[in-house]
Amino acid sequence: MTTVALKDVTKVFADGTIAVDSVNLDVNDGEFMVLLGPSGCGKSTVLRMVAGLEEPSSGAILLDGELANDLPPRDRRIAMVFQDFALYPHMTVGDNIAFPLRLSGVEPAPRGERVNDVASALGIGDVLARKPSQLSGGQRQRVAMGRAIVRRPGLFLMDEPLSNLDSGLRAELRAEISGLVRELGVSTIYVTHDQAEALTMADRVAIMRKGVLQDVGTPTQVYGRPATLYVAAFLGSPRMNLLEASVYVHLDRYVTLNLGEQSLYLPWDDIRSRAVAHYHGERIVVGMRAEALSPVAPDSPGDVLQGRIRYLEHHGHESLAFLDIGATAIVVDELGGPVRGQSQGGGRLRRFGHAVQRLTGRATVPA
Ligand code: ATP
Repeated sequence: MTTVALKDVTKVFADGTIAVDSVNLDVNDGEFMVLLGPSGCGKSTVLRMVAGLEEPSSGAILLDGELANDLPPRDRRIAMVFQDFALYPHMTVGDNIAFPLRLSGVEPAPRGERVNDVASALGIGDVLARKPSQLSGGQRQRVAMGRAIVRRPGLFLMDEPLSNLDSGLRAELRAEISGLVRELGVSTIYVTHDQAEALTMADRVAIMRKGVLQDVGTPTQVYGRPATLYVAAFLGSPRMNLLEASVYVHLDRYVTLNLGEQSLYLPWDDIRSRAVAHYHGERIVVGMRAEALSPVAPDSPGDVLQGRIRYLEHHGHESLAFLDIGATAIVVDELGGPVRGQSQGGGRLRRFGHAVQRLTGRATVPA
């Protein structure tokens, strides 16, 4: 399957808009790479340049190690799937799927066989005689996928293929698409602004902001050890707590983390101490995920912070507590209710699990 390498790729449009700014990115053989970022960050432009629909202003695009900047789209072994499906309305489902094969001169018998195989893999074998207008949104998207798969491309490029579908169907199809693509072993670049999609489907996620690549890694890496503050704040719901802190390493071997009006005392052998110790004397930003913080009883020993509950939010599968801890507000996963049980008394203690350590790696920057 096709490998992709972007080397310092920049795209400046005629009106001066820098849509993509010195992006370096590799997509490995058979890898499912998701490009994630807010609207206008340059994701589609990257995809269009890989497809050959846009030319880079500078930099190199390599397909299977060969410079492809000037390679016409039809010579790239690429299949694209867009959000608007773009099916031919006057053709049947079968003819829509068969269309790329007809264009490339495949004989009717093997063509029919390939269409049947693809349609049954996608669960649309029984609607081959229908027109697109007689299908549901999910079926239409499967037909679009079928048309992309049927040519056995080396690379799939998908631009928000699920964004026109309702949320239940989106969840169903995202599992289906990633399963199918993995089965086929085809390298894929998948563009979305939906982080749930990105984190559930990707082998690796590339996060962009204003044309610049912010971070690339497995879903676990970008979620747990974001490379920049932007990624730390962008990924995850609720948003990661980001607190300014000063770090002091004490000679008798413990570390204090001053968070505004409160301090955490971390023993030297605590993994979090090692993560922050080299920022001695500096102001940093510490990130803590709500799910890594847990409520404890007011008289609990250890590294705890005190907070006042502002409000609770119940989401069915989890409950979140929003707290003021001095000048800052944070959000904590309620973990089954102890916060509510204590909410009459005002001041609260919160234990920091391994959260500080999680954040202080790459996400920690001088404030
Ligand atoms: P979305 O999720 O909304 O599709 P995106 O992340 O895919 O956004 P792009 O479509 O790649 O973003 O656009 C990146 C930037 O380039 C935007 O500021 C957009 O307005 C601009 N842009 C895109 N195409 C052109 C063009 N042909 N001429 C000028 N500017 C353009």
